[in-house]
Amino acid sequence: MTTQHGFGERFTDHMVRMTWTAQEGWSGAPQVMAFGDLPFSPAMAGLHYGQVVFEGLKIHRRADGTLAAFRPAAHAGRLRQSARRLAMPELPEELFLEAMDLFVGRDGHLLPVDDPDLSLYLRPVLFASEPSLALRPARKYTFLLMGFVTGGFFSDRPDPVSVLVSREFTRAAPDGTGQAKCAGNYAGAFLAQQAAAEAGCRQVVWLDPVERRWIEEMGGMNLFFVRGSGPAAEVVTSPLTGSLLPGVTRDSLLTLAAELGHPVREERIAVDEWRAQSLSGAITETFACGTAALVTPVGLVRDGADAWQIGSGAAGPVTLALRASLTALHQGRVPDSHGWMREHRTPAPVPS
Ligand SMILES: *Cc1c(COP(=O)(O)O)cnc(C)c1O
Repeated sequence: MTTQHGFGERFTDHMVRMTWTAQEGWSGAPQVMAFGDLPFSPAMAGLHYGQVVFEGLKIHRRADGTLAAFRPAAHAGRLRQSARRLAMPELPEELFLEAMDLFVGRDGHLLPVDDPDLSLYLRPVLFASEPSLALRPARKYTFLLMGFVTGGFFSDRPDPVSVLVSREFTRAAPDGTGQAKCAGNYAGAFLAQQAAAEAGCRQVVWLDPVERRWIEEMGGMNLFFVRGSGPAAEVVTSPLTGSLLPGVTRDSLLTLAAELGHPVREERIAVDEWRAQSLSGAITETFACGTAALVTPVGLVRDGADAWQIGSGAAGPVTLALRASLTALHQGRVPDSHGWMREHRTPAPVPS
């Protein structure tokens, strides 16, 4: 159960399930069960109309051996926002945390004690499970929480990735679902991801859907840019435009970068500025961030026939310092002054 398997291909032994119906709302406590296949109706609404939202968060083993989740309340809040956007019922934070505690109580022991780079990735998913093809919000939903032990989305080490600017496709529309973590956004992105792979790149960079000029994000990660060097280096990311996903890691790094003494700005960066300023040396680093990828440097950018390198092409010092402060927090090696880590609480025993 380590990283010999692809990301999210081999799960732990259990999962947690809850149900919502229009008549009863969220009924009953979350139930833990063996991880395995579920029966479903071929007419299940989520399958046909895409009422599916999900989250991704991590449980870390801290230096003292305890298990703690990184900002679970922020993930619970985003799941509610995603659900609201898709006209789905919102899962209360208490139930989200209860499901998490139940799962971690059962399978948390599978997270090794001797490898701090491993974490338990949790995947909560909420989907319309009513058997009906009526074109309206479903009247029955299922929530599942599953998980797996993982090193990292790319690797345990911050190896730089190459990226392709997507000119053919956009990821989201103005006032669309870009800021919701909903299944359809990813299906719509795969073709661009394939084009990136064909161009020899690991990831795709999304431009804004209106002017196709401003850099929004990358694959399933947010992007940051570093201007200058040393303690005065500016750390910049796109503001939340409504079409990009408000990452919990993005939000955390804005805080951590300011604490490291960097001027921090939310500012739109145009793709032509990115190119010109990378070539002139004004932009010294670019990195992507997300729960799965942590902080991952971008080394090379392709845009059609054009290509440019960021800095030396390797991970820069600001990227590495931010990655180090984030992982130090995860691993409990520094005081958690923001209250971001929530220690695992053993839930009351479930009557069998
Ligand atoms: C999940 C996701 C992110 C990163 O969000 P985190 O909360 O930091 O994991 C960024 N962009 C997209 C499109 C995502 O799906």
